[in-house]
Amino acid sequence: MQVTDELIRSVVQEVLAHVGNGRAAAPTNGMARRWGVFQDVDEAAAAAAAAQREFERRGLDDRRRAIDRIRRICIDQAEQLGREELEETRIGRLAHKIDKLKVVGEKAPGVEFLRCDAFSGENGITLTEHAPFGVIGAITPVTHSLPTLACNAINMLAGGNAVLCNPHPSGARIACKGTRLFNQAIHDAIGIDNLITIIEAPTLESAEAIFQHRDVRLLCVTGGPAVGRAALRSPKRAIVAGPGNPPVVVDETADLDNAARCIVKGAAYDNNLLCIGEKEVFAVADIFDELCAAMAHHKAVRLDAKQIEALTKAAFVKDDKGRLVVNKDLIGQDAAVLARYAGVSVPADTELLFGETEESHPFVDHEQMMPFVPFVRCRDVDTAIELAKEYEHGFKHTAIIHSRNVDTITRMGREMDVSLFVQNGPSMASLGSGGEGYLSFSIATPTGEGVTTPLTFTRQRRSTTVGSMRVV
Ligand code: NAD
Repeated sequence: MQVTDELIRSVVQEVLAHVGNGRAAAPTNGMARRWGVFQDVDEAAAAAAAAQREFERRGLDDRRRAIDRIRRICIDQAEQLGREELEETRIGRLAHKIDKLKVVGEKAPGVEFLRCDAFSGENGITLTEHAPFGVIGAITPVTHSLPTLACNAINMLAGGNAVLCNPHPSGARIACKGTRLFNQAIHDAIGIDNLITIIEAPTLESAEAIFQHRDVRLLCVTGGPAVGRAALRSPKRAIVAGPGNPPVVVDETADLDNAARCIVKGAAYDNNLLCIGEKEVFAVADIFDELCAAMAHHKAVRLDAKQIEALTKAAFVKDDKGRLVVNKDLIGQDAAVLARYAGVSVPADTELLFGETEESHPFVDHEQMMPFVPFVRCRDVDTAIELAKEYEHGFKHTAIIHSRNVDTITRMGREMDVSLFVQNGPSMASLGSGGEGYLSFSIATPTGEGVTTPLTFTRQRRSTTVGSMRVV
C-alpha cells in the first residue's frame, strides 16, 4: 500500500477518534478511510446506509454536533474554499463565493426545526414526529457546488439522514474536498464517517444509478429543466429545485433609487448565477428613463442598441436541434468581460450591464445567468405584470416588485403564484440575506416544498395513546 499524506492523516484521525472521544467508531476493516468520497454508487450507498443506521441510533445532540462541524468549516474556511470553487468552476465572483459559504454556515436551519405536533383531548394524546428517510440522493449544480452540498447536508443530517451526492462534474473537485473535510470533522465529533458520500467522477450514468438505487429513499435535485425532468421520471419521490427566470416589475410609485440599488445588488451577486437573481426588468414608461438614470449611481453601465446586439450575438448560440441557447462561455463572467463582447470598455469594478430591449428579446426569454439585464418599457403596470408572468415561464420560482401601491403588490403576488415573492428589496432578501427568515440553496419549485428545511427531508410518524397521558 502506498503511504500518502492522506493515508497518514486518516490513520491518525481514526486513532484520535478511538481514544479522544471515548466512542466506539465504526470499524474500517483495515481499509483507509474514504471520508465519503467514492468512485462507485453501490459502494457509496452501502457506506451511507451503514452510517445512517448508526446515526439514527444517536440522539439529537449528536445531530447538532455533526451539523455544527459543517457550519464551522463553512464559516472558518470560507475564504479558501470559496477561492478553490471559483478556480475550479471559473464562474461567478470570489467575494460572493465566500459569502455564500458563510451564510450557509450561519443561516441554514438545523435540528431546531424538528418540532413535534401534539393533540390532547379526552381520548388521550397523539403526537406527530419527524423521522429520517434514510439515504437521500442529492444532485447539485455548478453555480453553487459546495454551498448547495453543505446546505443540503445540514438540512438532511438534521433530519437524521445520510447523503449520497452526484455533483456537477465541473464543480466536483470542491464538492469532494468539502465532503472529506465535513466527514473528518463529523467523525472527530461523533465517531461516524460517511454520513455525507459523494461520487468523485460524476456522470449522467452515476446520477441515474442513484435515481434507481434500492438504498436511496428520496431525491433532492437542484438544477435546470433536464435534471428536474429526469428525477421526476425516476421511481423515487423527488424534491425538485428547478430553474427560474425571475422578472422585476417597477411601477410609477416605486422609490427608484432603492429599486436601482436592489436590482444591481441582486443581479450582480455572483454575476447573476443565482436561480433567484433578477433576470429581466419590466418598468412602466412614466419612470423608465428615471430608473435607468438611477442605475448609473450604483455602478451599472447602460448599453445602447448596437452594443446589446453585439453582446447578444456572443451570448446565445444554436444547439444541435437549431434552438437558441445561452453560450456557456459567457455564463457567470464579470460585467467588464461581457462589455468587451459588446464592443465597449467599462471600469473593471462595473457591477452590472443593462439596456433597453423589446420583450421578445432572447435576454428576456432565457435564464441568462450573466450580469446583463434587459429592461422592457411597458405602457402601464398591468402590462408589466402580464409580461412578468409570461416570461417567468410558469417555473413558479421567484418574482420581484418595486412599488409603494399595496393593491398593485397584492395583485402581482396573486398573479405570479411563485415560491418567492420579494417587494422593495433585492432577490436574496427572500433567503434571509437582508430580509427575514432562513436560507437554503435548494428552493423546491415544481414539487412545491419551497425553501427546503430539515422537515422537508423527514417522514411524518404519528403515535397515539388512547385514554391516558393527558395529565390535565
Ligand atoms: P444543470 O441542470 O446543468 O446541472 C445541475 C445538475 O444536474 C448537475 O449535477 C448535472 O450534472 C445534473 N444533470 C443535468 N442533466 C441531467 C440529467 N439528464 N440526468 C441527471 N443529472 C443531470 O444546471 P447548472 O448549470 O449546474 O445550474 C444552474 C441551473 O440550476 C439553473 O437553471 C438554475 O436556475 C438552477 N438552480 C435552481 C436552484 C433552486 O433552488 N431552485 C438552485 C440553484 C440552481
